[in-house]
Amino acid sequence: MFSNVIAIDGPAASGKSSVARLIAERLHIPYISTGALYRALAWKWFGLGRSLEAMNGDGMTDFLNSTRLACKCAPEGGLFEVEIDGQCPGEALHTQEISAGASRIAALPEVRSWLLDVQRNMAGDRRIVMEGRDIGTAIFPDARHKFFLTASPEVRAERRLKQSGEPFDEAALKRVAAEIAARDEQDRNRKTAPLRQAEDAIFLDNSAMDLEQTLQFIMDAVKEKDIRISRNTVLHYRVPYADTDQMGVVYYANYLKYFEMFRTEMMIAAGESYQKMEEHGYALPVIEAVCHYKAPARFEDILEITGRVAECRGVRVKIECEIHCRGKLLAEGYTIHACVSREGKPVKVPPNITVLWEEKK
Ligand code: C5P
Repeated sequence: MFSNVIAIDGPAASGKSSVARLIAERLHIPYISTGALYRALAWKWFGLGRSLEAMNGDGMTDFLNSTRLACKCAPEGGLFEVEIDGQCPGEALHTQEISAGASRIAALPEVRSWLLDVQRNMAGDRRIVMEGRDIGTAIFPDARHKFFLTASPEVRAERRLKQSGEPFDEAALKRVAAEIAARDEQDRNRKTAPLRQAEDAIFLDNSAMDLEQTLQFIMDAVKEKDIRISRNTVLHYRVPYADTDQMGVVYYANYLKYFEMFRTEMMIAAGESYQKMEEHGYALPVIEAVCHYKAPARFEDILEITGRVAECRGVRVKIECEIHCRGKLLAEGYTIHACVSREGKPVKVPPNITVLWEEKK
């Protein structure tokens, strides 16, 4: 089993936060920037009148034990805000002093181990986008999707400066590129959880790409893998006596139950269970069911049930299923579902299902 996280790691100003936020919006899932957690710790530290150098001294354990970190994130993306001891520092987290403090505090093993559980608890078992430096390596080594983004220091410096909205010259560009390179150096060479790419992460140097192209690249990769996982889902089911009829074969109506069992399994494998989807206010009642019976199944046969999201348009989803036994096709068919809200109103199929549909080009 994978953890449900989409992990995006990479150095400063590689576009992680912007792209993570957009992915969360597209997929209607929450988003957490873990750099903000380190920044919030540095903000509190400096707020107590302590120095950068003192971070390496004795007081850190007590400091952590007296700290409560939480994050406000909208379940459908968009909002992300860190709360430390009940306060939201907001923009105050993005000063040069806090960047340097975050980088220093992030190198301390006790800080990282304290934050490990904090971050895992924040994500829970939700499908979520999390970005940072060690999400795919240390926090969620079993993340379903892992990306490592980078760009040249010059390109990253330019992005940083453009973000600030102020005019800048060649000298400013050089200065910021040097600051970024220094922070990379510190992140890469620290002993604890150095910045590095997870072996199974997809690497992307987006120096020559804009945000939309980076987003598209990641969304395509997420979709491709989710489709692959859903298509590889095989439900094995041994026919019990209770499923057979007087003729000694599986009663015809049970095949629709098998289709349903497969759909449940496929959705869990692909990241979000049907139950969670209902909690998010969606339901998928069947409005059409078709089954072609090719050969009978009998008591104790082991059925192999497979399927796919075959179509997804507007408020309708079509899911096809096939049932095999010992390599022989026994039944095939499909169900069509209408997507409705809690109040029973038709609504657009949610992204966790549309992502599983491979539209024919
Ligand atoms: O991403 P951001 O620039 O906000 O991160 C601030 C600092 O926090 C980084 O320079 C890095 O040192 C540290 N960090 C980290 N591990 C993370 C996220 C951030 O070490 N997962």
